[in-house]
Amino acid sequence: MKRIMVTGALGQIGSELTLFLRKHYGTDHVLATDIRNNSLEVVRSGPFEMLDVMDGKSFVKAASDFQADTIIHLAALLSAVAEGNPLLAWQMNMGSLLNALETARLLKAKFFTPSSIAVFGPPAPKKMTPQASILRPVTMYGINKVSGELLADYYFLKYGVDTRGLRFPGLISHATKPGGGTTDYAVEIFYDAIQKGRYTCYLQEGTSIDMMYMPDALQAIIQLLEVDSQQLKHRNAYNVTGMSFTPKELANEIQKYLPDFSLDYRIDPVRQSIADSWPDQIDASTAKQEWGFTTQYNLEKMTKDMLEKLTVKLMQS
Ligand code: NAD
Repeated sequence: MKRIMVTGALGQIGSELTLFLRKHYGTDHVLATDIRNNSLEVVRSGPFEMLDVMDGKSFVKAASDFQADTIIHLAALLSAVAEGNPLLAWQMNMGSLLNALETARLLKAKFFTPSSIAVFGPPAPKKMTPQASILRPVTMYGINKVSGELLADYYFLKYGVDTRGLRFPGLISHATKPGGGTTDYAVEIFYDAIQKGRYTCYLQEGTSIDMMYMPDALQAIIQLLEVDSQQLKHRNAYNVTGMSFTPKELANEIQKYLPDFSLDYRIDPVRQSIADSWPDQIDASTAKQEWGFTTQYNLEKMTKDMLEKLTVKLMQS
């Protein structure tokens, strides 16, 4: 892994992953791409190119001009956005994945794309959902992610492309706001707690979902990309998680630092029904066994760190 190309690099994951990779492998070794441009550090700190991942020819050209040996494909429409426009979500999420996999095949590059806990639907066990569970999602995003895992498996089996992927839960971070997922509340709540002292949550107080703090997610991506291919039996679909909590439990934790913080609820039926179709808590033991997945942050540590970092950021802005 010496020359890494990242798509969707200005999003919630990409904006931090790109900088993390540049620190790890060298600034000039990581090409960031996105359909939009901005003045953030990702664009200023190293190679950046505008790329629409739906344009297969431009995808291959950007990757081969850069001589990429690794493709990290992040550009996608997330769960709540996908549910609002299912046809566009299918076209974007599946079309861009095919372009990304084809590029990896042509360049003989290693390949990583995130899957999601959205692959599980109502028939999967809600608690400690095993790695190998029935996958019958009822959301367009979940259907895209199951199809994506299968397509990535196919490119490995048929063409020998070294594909890898993680089933991420909701990701919590302070650098870039999330892009329209069902778990966005777990980031928004911190902004509102600091700035307004109250938050109105769109999920019910007892809705339990898996989450992970961004530093653990970045570490897991690098760890999975670097592990010997022979070790990977579930290469495109590892369950990973850092914690599982409800909105009420998160609010209680925030109140330890901001005692006057208050939470109320105005339920969004679309996001609530997406959340209800997902597990409460998944089992990440296969990732631990196959390549040593670990996390540093639980609910307590994550909350403390988020409040500290976000308070500094909001004071500076
Ligand atoms: P995001 O919405 O924050 O960012 C996506 C980026 O893709 C944006 O910068 C957007 O400009 C770009 N993009 C959109 N359309 C594009 C196009 N046609 N061409 C090029 N770029 C385009 O998403 P994210 O949270 O960073 O997620 C990245 C990946 O991780 C996705 O596959 C997502 O499904 C997956 N994932 C995310 C989470 C999470 O909580 N953030 C959880 C599980 C899985």
